[in-house]
Amino acid sequence: RGGQAQREIPFAQPGSLTKVFAIASGKGGVGKSSVTVNLALAMAKQGLKVGVVDADIYGHSVPAMLGVADQRPTQVEDLIMPVPTPSGVSVISIGMLKPRRDQVVAWRGPMLDRALVQMLSDVYWGSLDVLLLDLPPGTGDVAISLGQHLPGAEVVVVTTPQEAAAEVAERAGTMASMMHQRVVGVVENMSFLPCPHCGADEHRLEIFGSGGGERVAGTLSARFGYDVPVLGQVPIDPSLREGGDAGKPIVESDPTAPGARVLTAIAEKL
Ligand code: ADP
Repeated sequence: RGGQAQREIPFAQPGSLTKVFAIASGKGGVGKSSVTVNLALAMAKQGLKVGVVDADIYGHSVPAMLGVADQRPTQVEDLIMPVPTPSGVSVISIGMLKPRRDQVVAWRGPMLDRALVQMLSDVYWGSLDVLLLDLPPGTGDVAISLGQHLPGAEVVVVTTPQEAAAEVAERAGTMASMMHQRVVGVVENMSFLPCPHCGADEHRLEIFGSGGGERVAGTLSARFGYDVPVLGQVPIDPSLREGGDAGKPIVESDPTAPGARVLTAIAEKL
C-alpha cells in the first residue's frame, strides 16, 4: 500500500469487542501451533467467531493443521479475505503472503512488521469474538511488533515440562510483559505419556521430566505481581499428532482423546 495511509488495526481500537490471544513459546517444537489450532476449534465449538493469524515465520504450520494447506486467500478490492476452514474458523498465514509456497521467508524486522500489520489490518476479519495469533518461538521481531501494535493482546505461554524449555519460556513471557501485554497463563504440553496399557495415573511416564509449567507460572507470577496460572497439562497423545498431520485437530475429530479433553478445558478458561 505504497504511499497510502495505512488502514487501522480494528482490534487495537478502543471499542473493539474482539479478545486477542497471542500464543507464545520460548523454543520451537513444544506444540505451540498444535495448541493454537485446537484452542481455535474448541472456541468455535463454544459458538464463538474465531480468527487465527499464523505469524510463525519459521513454522507456519497452522494452515496444514487446519486442513487448508493448499488454499490461498482471495482479494476483494484491496481487502484480503481470510481462508475459511471446514469448521468455520478464519485463517491467514504469513505463508499465504509469500508469492510461492516453497519460498523461504528471510525477512528482517521492518518487513515482518509490515506483514504482521497487513495480516491484522488488510484482512477482512468481520466481527470476531476471538483472534488467536501463533507467534514464532522466542522473543524476536514479531513479538515486539505485536506488542507495539496490540498491547492489549493477552499472552498464553506454551512450554514442555523440561527445565531447559521452561527457562526460555520464561523469557518469552517476560518479553510480553515488557511490551505491556498481560500473560494470562501457561500451557504445559507433552506433560506425560498416559500408561498405554491401563491409563492409570501412577503408571504415567514423564518423558520430558516434570515441573516446567509450574516453574514458568511461578516465576512469572512472582515477577509480574499477579497470578499467572497453569491453564492445563496436555498429555503426549498420538491422536493429537495424527490430527495435526491430517488437518483435523483432535478437539473436533476425536474430542474424547486425553489431549482433546485438556485443550477443550483450557479453551473454556480463556
Ligand atoms: P511448535 O508450534 O511449538 O513448533 P508443533 O505444534 O508444530 O510445535 O508441534 C511439534 C510436533 O509435535 C508436531 O508434529 C505435533 O503434532 C506434535 N505434538 C505437539 N503436541 C503434542 C502432544 N501433546 N502429543 C503428541 N504430539 C504432539
